[in-house]
Amino acid sequence: MLQSQFSQFREAARREPYPELATRLRWIGAINDLLVQHGEAYTKAISQDFGHRSTHETWMADIMPLRDSVRHIQRHLATWMRTQTVPTSLTFQPGRCLIMPQPQGVVGVISPWNYPLNLALEPTLEALAAGNRVMIKPSELTPRFSELLAQTVAEAFPPDVLRVVTGGVELAQEFAALPWDHLFFTGSTRVGREVARTASANLTPVTLELGGKSPTIVSASADLERAAASLVMAKALNAGQTCIAPDYVLVHENHRTAFAQAFSQALQKQYPELGDTPDYSSLVSDRHFDRQLELLEDARDQGASILTPDWAPKLPDRSRRRLPPTLVINATAAMRVMQEEIFGPLLPVLFYEKLDTAFEIIGQHDRPLALYWFGQSAAEERRILHETIAGGVTINDCILHIAQTNLPFGGVGASGYGSYHGEWGFKNFSKLKPIFRQSPWSGAHLMRAPYGKMFDWLARAMGGRGQSSP
Ligand code: NAD
Repeated sequence: MLQSQFSQFREAARREPYPELATRLRWIGAINDLLVQHGEAYTKAISQDFGHRSTHETWMADIMPLRDSVRHIQRHLATWMRTQTVPTSLTFQPGRCLIMPQPQGVVGVISPWNYPLNLALEPTLEALAAGNRVMIKPSELTPRFSELLAQTVAEAFPPDVLRVVTGGVELAQEFAALPWDHLFFTGSTRVGREVARTASANLTPVTLELGGKSPTIVSASADLERAAASLVMAKALNAGQTCIAPDYVLVHENHRTAFAQAFSQALQKQYPELGDTPDYSSLVSDRHFDRQLELLEDARDQGASILTPDWAPKLPDRSRRRLPPTLVINATAAMRVMQEEIFGPLLPVLFYEKLDTAFEIIGQHDRPLALYWFGQSAAEERRILHETIAGGVTINDCILHIAQTNLPFGGVGASGYGSYHGEWGFKNFSKLKPIFRQSPWSGAHLMRAPYGKMFDWLARAMGGRGQSSP
């Protein structure tokens, strides 16, 4: 079944290898129409799948960035599609060097459950803009949403342009094994490794958007109130189930007592009714909820202090899978919270005196997807940017580098490779074809056999023969 659907796509790409601008813009417009017509229904389905997902968060983090991308693509696609002229070296003038972005063909997108709409459709938008046909395999953990997406896409798109296939791990494995022209995977590092291995059998180019432990540094020079407010926003968003959520925070010793207080105050200000507010989302499954409690218990057993919001006595509530943002103070490397990606509302807090210590702790982990720094010192900012490596950075706030249409988004090392968003995504899903166009006035014939005096003269003139290198 999957194989025959794939063949249909492959055939369509062969029939129309270079969809024109108008066709691509029609596809982008059709995605926009889906968002306009079914935004409410998607939001409802996602909330049902989660148990509860804040409607505002779905609009803010799933739908609005997609609408933004649609507008960005509509504005710039004609320019991105242009064949670019690049300089030709003197030797080969008056020939011309060109780069032509060409559709790769058929793209597979495998997406996770945490921002199920955005992470299925954002790469899709960019792949369609680049002239590809796309099949999406969304997560089985958001089954109502995935079915709705499949159904609404089937109504809006020809079945050989965009299609959604639904199923569990077995189908996902079969999907990853198809000979895509590009496979775009968002999910865990563990599954990402498997996907890369599977795709390598076909030498399929893969983009891996993975997870990991994203650190935050709150430096001595930080505005603590501002840092705490931002950390609360980033950790409470989707109850911490965000790939670029701050995973742990390194706080300068100067703020040892004030940090927890500032965090609590900011949390109470943003979520005064934490137990009941519809602004706070549930954990996606009982398994995910129980795992957070296990991490917490392990940290407590090993001596961490746990700080839960005392104005929300009803929490944690397993029946609604509601777990409050919780500080794990004095976390250590031996605790599971410092060994696994948390992907929930727990926030380990460690203290440092010298920046080198903070770098050492960060260096003990795989390269992260994001890194956040709060501070005012230009010298320290420079050290942070030069001496750490991460997929992306936000300074004096969290999360927001992902929302910038002109910045590439992607990981490094174990947090993934390749990137997308805006033109970066367009390029990622294009074959950037290098072209050299020869001129009738070319002197290339002088460099052909039989090699004689003219060749020797030219070779000497160009520094290739009979001269020692500088
Ligand atoms: P996951 O890896 O369990 O699943 C992701 C997708 O992969 C799902 O559609 C699933 O069906 C599919 N899948 C499962 N096994 C597969 C296999 N063997 N072969 C091919 N596909 C398979 O991830 P998840 O639990 O849905 O999402 C959470 C993870 O995703 C976290 O680690 C998070 O950091 C990461 N994430 C990363 C980004 C990013 O942009 N870098 C964004 C969101 C989430």
